[in-house]
This record gives sequence, structure tokens and C-alpha cells, in this order.
Amino acid sequence: SQIPRFRLPEEVIDEETGYILRLGVEFRGGVRIESMQQLLAEHWDAVFVGSGAPRGRDLSLPGRDEAAAQIHIGIDWLASVSFGHTTHIGKRVIVLGGGNTAMDCCRTSRRLGGDDVKVIVRSPFDEMKASPWEKEDAIHEGIPILDCLVPKAFLHANGKLTGMRFEKVRAVRDERGRRQLVPTGEPEQVFDCDEVLVAVGQDPWIERNAGIAFDEHGMPALDAVTLQSSRPEVFFGGDAALGPKNIIWAVAQGHAAAISIDKYLHGEDVHARPPPGVTLVSQKMGIHEWTYDNEVAPDARHKVPWHDINQSLRNIKVEVELGFDAKTAWKEAQRCLNCDVQTVFSTGQCIECDACVDICPTDCITFTNNGVEADLRTRLRAPARHADQDLYVSGNLKTGRVMVKDEDVCLHCGLCAERCPTGAWDMQKFLLEPARAGRACRSHHGAQKKAA
Ligand SMILES: Cc1cc2nc3c(=O)[nH]c(=O)nc-3n(C[C@H](O)[C@H](O)[C@H](O)COP(=O)(O)OP(=O)(O)OC[C@H]3O[C@@H](n4cnc5c(N)ncnc54)[C@H](O)[C@@H]3O)c2cc1C
Ligand code: SF4
Ligand code: SF4
Repeated sequence: SQIPRFRLPEEVIDEETGYILRLGVEFRGGVRIESMQQLLAEHWDAVFVGSGAPRGRDLSLPGRDEAAAQIHIGIDWLASVSFGHTTHIGKRVIVLGGGNTAMDCCRTSRRLGGDDVKVIVRSPFDEMKASPWEKEDAIHEGIPILDCLVPKAFLHANGKLTGMRFEKVRAVRDERGRRQLVPTGEPEQVFDCDEVLVAVGQDPWIERNAGIAFDEHGMPALDAVTLQSSRPEVFFGGDAALGPKNIIWAVAQGHAAAISIDKYLHGEDVHARPPPGVTLVSQKMGIHEWTYDNEVAPDARHKVPWHDINQSLRNIKVEVELGFDAKTAWKEAQRCLNCDVQTVFSTGQCIECDACVDICPTDCITFTNNGVEADLRTRLRAPARHADQDLYVSGNLKTGRVMVKDEDVCLHCGLCAERCPTGAWDMQKFLLEPARAGRACRSHHGAQKKAA
């Protein structure tokens, strides 16, 4: 992984890979698959491709070739640092790009000798792809982020990079809401530098002549659920599948592809997949007692403390985030909204006394006449404006009305269930157990077997 060591220490990777190796898989390290076609000619029963997205995009601008020795593709450079091949960088560094790779490049540069490191990005600061906390970390390490600057040329003298030229732009939206970067007409800006790291995106590497179909974006044409490619024995996962995302997605896709492979090898339909296991268990212990901590602390997010900046900038292996101490961890945990504890409503038990409406601290319960969702949303005690957040609508009550709850603002405090005289509301813990590869994911008695 190119994720720098100050965020993902080696021991963590060793531990994780250890779990897999202990399952008894044969691991062949240090081998690069040069040709997918050749690999497939070996007639493996199934192949999983998890080759990531290692190819960083280049910038073809005037001066690129002349100053090539001081211009690096960010992702390759990070890999080279990770493996210890690169140990220093010039004092003045420009990092091009606004994603998390750019943030890693600039922070790594600060640790390898870059004194004057700046990030220069085309987009406005607020629209950069990097996560807000990544930008915050970079700024904390004294790295300015200059936005709305489009790179125009690499400047060089005597075969050496001397700086870069940029055009100032501003973002405007057309009538369809699409963003365009329009030159402001201000004079072009020049920044001196010794080295440039280009972190303007990545393109997945996958061979094209192996009988695997690709879509118009250059990605393998896959079924998004089964992750099966147009060659039925080839499955994808991680950044190589549906484009660069993050580790959580890569792991989830690994599980999904494993189910597909298991079913495929057993001659079953890969589309007939087991649903996840779901359980709902009441958390009631007494009238006002719950098995979960239902108090909600209104605190803002507690900041994870950082290692002393002088030490972390001197040693790339020092993990920057120290983690919470026990006291702050406790306070942070008190902010939990217990989203795993659901409000469950039993229509038949409700006598429409409105007691739950009165006590709900966020006005998220309404008894009203049913209607189309768009209209219903405007008739609630607190209008439900986030259409991507579901409404909970009961069946018809005795008066013909329905109970509507806006899930978006529920604090899972349980007060409605404490107040309800009939037990129509209950707080129930929800557990989702995603399906895994193995016997349980296969159809019983061959019921789902593929027609031969
Ligand atoms: C700089 C950077 C920082 C990131 N930070 C984070 C972060 O903080 N949190 C987060 O969740 N995600 C982060 N990501 C994203 C995350 O790294 C990826 O989403 C994740 O690693 C994808 O996993 P993967 O298994 O698909 O690919 P990878 O982790 O890239 O693994 C692919 C593997 O395949 C090998 N490989 C490639 N081609 C071949 C071949 N032809 N033959 C043999 N082996 C091959 C590679 O050597 C590599 O070991 C970051 C990404 C980058 C680039
Ligand atoms: S759990 Fe609390 S916030 Fe949610 S509906 Fe009940 S009283 Fe309202
Ligand atoms: S408190 Fe209980 S009975 Fe009364 S309206 Fe609410 S759900 Fe119905």
C-alpha cells in the first residue's frame, strides 16, 4: 500500500496479512504478473484481480520533458518512499492536486527535507477531493494550500526545473450545475521550486488484450454486485474494480467477490446471493431502563491529539495521530447516537394519546393523514428536508391517520418508548451480519443451481 507509514504503520499491515496467511493460503511474494493473458492461459478455475490503481496520471505541459528529473508522479514517489528507495527531496516543493494523495505527498515532503512545501490545486479549497481532516493536518504542518490555480508550464533552465507557471481561475456553474473553471484574467503566477509532485489522479492498470471487456471510463465492465467480469472466471475487487476508493470498500468488495467465486466454483448462480442476517432485540430492562446508554451528549467532536510536530516531521515512521486517552475516549463515546438501536413502532398498540409527540426532544414524531412522500415531508412537525433520509410511516391507525417519523433527526434517546403507556414504541438493537463466502452462502440442496 502507498499509504504513508505515519498513517498506516507497518505493524498494522503485518498483523492484517498475518490473519490471511494463517488461513493456510500459499503466498508468492515479489512476483509481478506481467501479462493477464498469460496468467489466464494457465487455466486457473477462478482469478481474483486486486491489483489496485497504481498508475498515477501525468501532466503533459510545456517543459515536462526538459525538467523530467525533478518531476515525479506522486503515487509512484510515495511508493518509492514507502519502500525506502527515496529518502529526501529538494527544499522547495510544489505538490499539484487536491486529493488525499496530494495531502500525503506534501506531508511526506515535509518529512524528507522540504522546507517550503505548497499544495497548488485547480479547484476551490472547499471543493477539493481531500477529506477536510487531511487538509487540516497538512495546514497544521505549515503547508499552504493555494487554490484556483491551473498549471500552465514547467519552467526550467540548463535542464533543471526552476518553477511553475499558473493561471488564476474561478469556479462558475452552468445552468445544469456543472462546474467550469473560468480564467479571471489576472496575470499568470509563477512559483519557484526544486521539485514537483504530480498528484492529479490515478488510472487503474489492467491489461486490455485478455478477453476482459472494459467500459467507456477504462474500467473493467463488471457486475457491481457480483464483481464478475465479462470472462466468467475473472473477478475484481478494490481499486482495480470500480475505481479508487478506500480500504473499507476494498475489503467489502473482497468479501463480495469471495462469495461469487465460491458459488461459481460450486456451479451455482453467482446472482442468487444470500441476504445478510438481521436481528432486532428489545433493549428494555424496566420502565426507564435500557441496556444501552441512551443519554446523548451535545459535545462537539473531540480532536484526536497529535504527536509533537517537531518529532513527527523528523521521522516519517512516527504515527501522527496519538489516539484518545481513556478519559477523552469515554467522552467521545458519549456522543454516540446509538444508531444501532432502532425505534420500533407497533401500530396495533398505539392509542394515539400523543404522549410520544410531546416528549420527543427533536419533534421527529407526527401523527397525520397519509399522503405522497413529497407532500408528507412538508406536513411534519419539523419538515423533513433531507430526501435521502427515509421516513418511517406506520400502517393506518384507528382514526385513519398514520404515525410518521423522520429518521434523520432521531437521537435514539428512547424517551418516546419510556413515555408510551401501551408499549407501542420499543427500542430494539439492530445487528446486521453480512453474508460470507463458505457453505452458508451456497444454495441448499442445489435449489439455486445454475441450469446446465
Ligand atoms: C497515497 C494514498 C493514500 C491513501 N490513504 C488512505 C487512507 O488513509 N485510508 C483508506 O482507507 N484508503 C486510503 N487510500 C486508498 C487505499 O490505499 C486503497 O483504496 C486500497 O489500498 C485499495 O486496496 P487494493 O487491495 O484494491 O489495492 P492496493 O492496496 O493498491 O494493493 C494492490 C496490490 O497489488 C499489487 N499489484 C499491482 N499490480 C500487480 C501485478 N501486475 N502483479 C502482481 N501484483 C500487483 C500491488 O503491488 C499491491 O500490493 C490511499 C491511497 C493512496 C494512493
Ligand atoms: S428516540 Fe428520542 S428522538 Fe427518537 S423518536 Fe423517540 S423520543 Fe424522539
Ligand atoms: S405514546 Fe404510544 S400510544 Fe401514545 S401516541 Fe405515542 S405511540 Fe401511540
